[in-house]
Amino acid sequence: MSAAREELAEAGAVLAAEAARFASFGWMRGTSGNLSVVVSRDPLRLAVTASGRDKGELSASDVVLVDAFGMAVDGGKPSAEAALHARVAALTGAGAVVHVHTVASVAMGRRRPGGIVFRDLEMLKGIGRPAHGVAVTLPVIANSQDMTELGDRLEAARNPDVPAVVVAGHGLYAWGATPLQARHHTEIVEWLLELELTER
Ligand SMILES: [Zn+2]
Repeated sequence: MSAAREELAEAGAVLAAEAARFASFGWMRGTSGNLSVVVSRDPLRLAVTASGRDKGELSASDVVLVDAFGMAVDGGKPSAEAALHARVAALTGAGAVVHVHTVASVAMGRRRPGGIVFRDLEMLKGIGRPAHGVAVTLPVIANSQDMTELGDRLEAARNPDVPAVVVAGHGLYAWGATPLQARHHTEIVEWLLELELTER
C-alpha cells in the first residue's frame, strides 16, 4: 500500500469509529450525515465518509479523498455535502468536520431561524465560551441543495466564537481541530439544542 493510501485508510478507520458512535446516538439515521478529516492543508485534501453507506457499519475503506471543491481526487463517490466540509475546513482552519441530521437541530432551526441564543450554562465552556453572563449565538442558515450557496450562507452567518452552524430543515455542522475535538463540539452543541428544545 502506498503511503497516501495508508494515510487515507487510517483516516477512514478514525471516521468509521466516530460515525459508529454518532449512529449509536441516532444522529446518522438512514445513511444520513457525513464526517471528514483534513489530511493535507496545501493543497487542501479531506478524507470524507463515502456516500450512501450505513454510518453505523462503515469500514476504513468507506472513505473518499476530496479537494477544496469536494470533488473526488482519486476515485470513489463523495457525498455532495463534501464540498461544504471542504469550505468549512478552508474557512475556519478546522481539522475535522461533523455533519449530523439530529431532531433537535432541525426542530430548533425551525423555531429560531435567526439564530439560537444560549447563556448561563456550564456546558458552554465545552465550546470555549464563558459559563456565565455572555450570550452565545449559534447561527442558523437556510438550507440549499447548492453547496456553493450553502457555503456562502455559512460564511456570512458564522460566529467565529462558535464552532457550529445549524442548517434549517436539515441538520447540524460542527468542527474542531481534531476528530476528537469535533466530536466534543458536536456533542456539546447537540446537548444545548436538546436542552433548549426541552425547555420551550
Ligand atoms: Zn445533510
